[in-house]
Amino acid sequence: EVQHVSDLEKLQVLGSGNGGTVYRVCHKKSSKVYALKVIRGGATDQVRQEIEILRCCTDSPNIVQCLGVFEESFDDISILMEYMEAGSLDVLAKTTLGSFSETIIANIAYQSLTGLDYLHSKKIVHRDIKPSNLLVTREMQVKIADFGVSKIIKSSENACNGSVGTCAYMSPEKFDSDGKDYNVFAGDVWSLGLTLMELYIGHYPYMQPGKEAENKSVIWEICFEEPPCMPKDASEHFKDFIQCCLQKDWTKRWTARQLLTHPFIISAREKVGLGSIVLGTKRENSVQSIEEIGEVVAVRKKSRV
Ligand code: ADP
Ligand code: MG
Repeated sequence: EVQHVSDLEKLQVLGSGNGGTVYRVCHKKSSKVYALKVIRGGATDQVRQEIEILRCCTDSPNIVQCLGVFEESFDDISILMEYMEAGSLDVLAKTTLGSFSETIIANIAYQSLTGLDYLHSKKIVHRDIKPSNLLVTREMQVKIADFGVSKIIKSSENACNGSVGTCAYMSPEKFDSDGKDYNVFAGDVWSLGLTLMELYIGHYPYMQPGKEAENKSVIWEICFEEPPCMPKDASEHFKDFIQCCLQKDWTKRWTARQLLTHPFIISAREKVGLGSIVLGTKRENSVQSIEEIGEVVAVRKKSRV
């Protein structure tokens, strides 16, 4: 067991952003590898919230697991996490895989929705779902990470004021300044829908090339244009699934729990021999490795040419 940050040796920077810097670290005594997120500037209320959320989400296979928190000095807080060997989906999309097959997306969707439904049932809103905040193990287990702008919604408060997160993945209602109430959880579903679509088409769905001349901003497109269209070669179930996520009117958008019953998810789970392999969230079931998945995608790409 790790007692102190000095028990850990920093091996590599895995990522850095607003939240801090994440390192791959090795526990010197046991040689076990972990991820360590070092947040500079100390314990703001938001950092306390991030830690509180991680501490209360210890029983979901689809939420990244926190193994300890260290407060060393006045201005450093370190969060020890399980190491997700395959990294985040943004990097995976750009490097190993290119774009993902529908089967892989159904797998990612199923696991992310299971994680989201778990969070939402605990009244936790993530507020920053996007490819770089979905992490993957070697066995293709998908886990939601980065609770840096997340919030536990107390029944007494108006959670709709103040939009945080990454603009590009925010739902239209969050840009509406009229002060109308909306369901904060629905925003996570929009962000996941856009993320899954991005993984399929291989690039961010808004701001298509050729449209730059129109000089519209991403926010303008999100608010005033139709949601992005799925390519024609996608299956009807998949197109419908994305449509259920990308409803501009949040009252028509499906919840995470409803989406878990969508035919896109159900039919992928029911495919003979595929249910346990591709959609297993248990380690022993997930025999399809990243290498194998790479092959699946390679085959799919070849057959398209
Ligand atoms: P930030 O608030 O800076 O976005 P994140 O928690 O999202 O912080 O971490 C930044 C990046 O570090 C992620 O996008 C991912 O690539 C990498 N990372 C974070 N946590 C882990 C982890 N547990 N295992 C592997 N990589 C991680
Ligand atoms: Mg992040």
